Amino acid sequence: MRRVSIFGATGSIGQNTIDLISRAPSDYDVVALTGGANIQKLANDARRLGADLAVTAHEDKLDDLRAALTGSEVEAAAGANAIAEAATRPADWIMSAIVGSAGLAPGIEALKQGSTLALANKETLVCAGSLVMETAKAHDARLLPVDSEHSAVFQALVGEDITAVERVIITASGGAFRDWPMEDLVNATVEQASSHPNWDMGQRITIDSASMFNKALEVIETREFFSVSPTQIEVLVHPESIVHAMVGYRDGAVMAHMGAPDMRHAIGYALHWPERRDLPVDRLDLAKIGQLNFKAPDLKRYPALKLAWDVMERGGLAGAVFNAAKERALDHFIARRISFLDMADAVAAVLDRFDASDGLIDAPMTLDNVHQTDHLARQWVDDTVVERAG
Ligand code: NAD
Ligand code: MG
Repeated sequence: MRRVSIFGATGSIGQNTIDLISRAPSDYDVVALTGGANIQKLANDARRLGADLAVTAHEDKLDDLRAALTGSEVEAAAGANAIAEAATRPADWIMSAIVGSAGLAPGIEALKQGSTLALANKETLVCAGSLVMETAKAHDARLLPVDSEHSAVFQALVGEDITAVERVIITASGGAFRDWPMEDLVNATVEQASSHPNWDMGQRITIDSASMFNKALEVIETREFFSVSPTQIEVLVHPESIVHAMVGYRDGAVMAHMGAPDMRHAIGYALHWPERRDLPVDRLDLAKIGQLNFKAPDLKRYPALKLAWDVMERGGLAGAVFNAAKERALDHFIARRISFLDMADAVAAVLDRFDASDGLIDAPMTLDNVHQTDHLARQWVDDTVVERAG
């Protein structure tokens, strides 16, 4: 029996993970599940899977969670500290699928156990890449990618020497607005940005796909995960979402990873690694698909994408600034305080302010400094939004 914990169990990745685990319940001993405001879903899954512990992020929902778990043997807890504590409970495989920088602290705790962390939460590497990699190394923990592009790169690297890699190409569907006239983007609504042409995901990452903030995070994630240089990373728009990534080698060969757009492939690969086991995903029928298209991304349409290289050039805590500013700008967009295109402008302005802030830019990467930077960047976005409104 493998002991598993799932952080962000009630979300899109969390539910797909539970789907896979539920198919072979006798193989898994579920330690902890965590969620947010959806107490009923969290409690139901915790009961059904016989988890030791269920934790909600919301402290004021502890009584609701306790009530929902009455009569079961599942322990209830609440709050960010309780989530971090849950990550210290011994487990062999831990899924990191909280959305946003809130996934960082429990991810670090999980790595300190020296177990395997399946990383869907890309923000962990964007905010604190070197700290995370060092923690993994110091505790002999293993990080496995769950983001589909990174899982694809990881698979295209099997048996190869990383020094033979010339370039890494990750694909992007182009999101909800890939075929919209440019002049209409300024009026794009939250509802329109929240529907993805190919993937079924949580709302925040779906909007980030439309703006390509998601791809920008993934470019930085690629750099941190595989230690390639920024100039070795390329993005290709590929509307069919069949080729997830490609690795180009020094002899000119390109290994592409293909598959149906279903996150259960990448989750299942990380769950069973280094083996391959049967997974309930559609098989590719390339004859039926007929053709696959690729084109270079238009940086005018996707100003957020270019920011990834600006962030990598800055290094240090710039990733934490970028991610926090992006999260806050997204909050403002969802609350309809700023327009779709304002998000990239606001984040770029915050990065410039970061350059000008003495001390901060050279601060060492500690968890405290990442948290402080995160907090400050969110405040700076609020300042820009207020300025614009005024
Ligand atoms: P989601 O919004 O569907 O679920 C997020 C989960 O995190 C929920 O369980 C929610 O309760 C929890 N959560 C939210 N805020 C929290 C907080 N402050 N503290 C603790 N828990 C909190 O998101 P998702 O689409 O499943 O994405 C999860 C992560 O996986 C993100 O980092 C995303 O970028 C990444 N990812 C998702 C997909 C996908 O297909 N959905 C693909 C690749 C990567
Ligand atoms: Mg992805």
